[in-house]
Amino acid sequence: MEISPKMKAAVLYGKEDVRIEEIAVPSINDDEVLVRIKAALTCGTDLKVYRRGYHAKMIVPPAVFGHEFSGVIEKVGSNVDSFKPGMRVVAANSAPCNECFYCKKGKPNLCEKLIFINGAYAEYIKIPKQIVSQNLLVLPNNVTYRSAALVEPLACVLRGLEETGIKPKDVVAVLGTGPIAYMFIRLAKLLGAFVISLGRRDERLKIAQMVGADALINTAKVKDILDAVKYYTEGGRGVDVAIEAIGQARLWEAAIDMVRKGGIVNLFGGCATKTSINIDTEKLHYSELTIKASFHHTPNHIKKALDLIAEGNLDAEEFISGQESLQNLPELLEKMVHQRNGFVKVAIIP
Ligand SMILES: [Zn+2]
Ligand SMILES: [Zn+2]
Repeated sequence: MEISPKMKAAVLYGKEDVRIEEIAVPSINDDEVLVRIKAALTCGTDLKVYRRGYHAKMIVPPAVFGHEFSGVIEKVGSNVDSFKPGMRVVAANSAPCNECFYCKKGKPNLCEKLIFINGAYAEYIKIPKQIVSQNLLVLPNNVTYRSAALVEPLACVLRGLEETGIKPKDVVAVLGTGPIAYMFIRLAKLLGAFVISLGRRDERLKIAQMVGADALINTAKVKDILDAVKYYTEGGRGVDVAIEAIGQARLWEAAIDMVRKGGIVNLFGGCATKTSINIDTEKLHYSELTIKASFHHTPNHIKKALDLIAEGNLDAEEFISGQESLQNLPELLEKMVHQRNGFVKVAIIP
């Protein structure tokens, strides 16, 4: 099949300004792969980018964007022999270099030369060599394109959970009711934890319950959040683990306040730049708290995420609340940003 040289793609022009345009299909070199996108998922990061009109590290407008996707290989470069046109695949949005200081220290998620790709809200996307060789995976037959598109955010959550170290019967508080928080809830349940979901909207908390939360706390309605959380813990001591999955300084502090002695906090949600928090040094020291933050994913976790979906241990569809055509993306983003309630992730089909 001849590829038409033009494709439809969403182009970000600035603050709340996204247009569907005809642009050139990316051309590939001998080491690259061209993927025809079958499904892309909306993500909290994309909503932030839409609201702000840029991303400090990744996107300077006008630019294509979107980074969670799956599709079918359209074309491969002459040096690529592990992939063929027609293969169903998922790719992560980045891959490490394996040569820098952090890669050698076994922290590829902190790689100094991590390359990112954007442009999942389009008909085609180019996969560069670094991703082709590490983070481009063939889909098992039982994994749909929609489900496969969840692999990237799921990998971030899997890594975050691994770093946190949850044990069966732990009481875990998850702050936030976005897709990332829902995945944390689901996976913490799989590990045998008792999960408390904290959020400000009943409608969102109901979804948290559907994905597995044992207790719900509407933080806008309770008098004292800490009392409400401690009610569910033995002797009112506090939770074993608290995970902040929004990115607000006030909630980072709340997460630290609600763990018991020896508890573990994972500050997963990235806050706005130049934000700082206050920590009670006495509590940190005498309660022997562990405070962690996890960022991004590794090739190993991308594989694990796909396995988890393929083996049926996690139903990706639980986190996808609808489907829209690429043409309707601008209206959808507008709705998601301004009347957020019912949306989890939406699949964009070009
Ligand atoms: Zn994302
Ligand atoms: Zn590196």
